[in-house]
Amino acid sequence: MEIFKEFTFEAAHRLPHVPDGHKCSRLHGHSFRCELHVRGDVDPRLGWIVDFADIKRAFEPFLAQLDHHFLNEVEGLANPTSEVLARWIFDRVRPSLPGLCRVVVRETCTSGCVYDGT
Ligand SMILES: [Zn+2]
Repeated sequence: MEIFKEFTFEAAHRLPHVPDGHKCSRLHGHSFRCELHVRGDVDPRLGWIVDFADIKRAFEPFLAQLDHHFLNEVEGLANPTSEVLARWIFDRVRPSLPGLCRVVVRETCTSGCVYDGT
């Protein structure tokens, strides 16, 4: 079974490697949404895989590095595509949330990325 918790953050970015004239080369912002999915066995007594509060606690320090920041200036996010951002989140949160199995990053209502660590 798998649970997830959704987070939102506001951030600015630009994509430095897109072709000249591409709209994403210009500084702009998104209301990002991301989901952290945790897979595991349901504890028979507690009836849950992990406390949603544990997911929040594991992500909070990294969320603080993203929210209302210029992502290109964050260590490891010089080219802050959804793909790079999903991997950045996964790699940092996983050590304190071993069941983390999937990170979803949405930069708009219709565009996003799913990363499962592979
Ligand atoms: Zn963008």
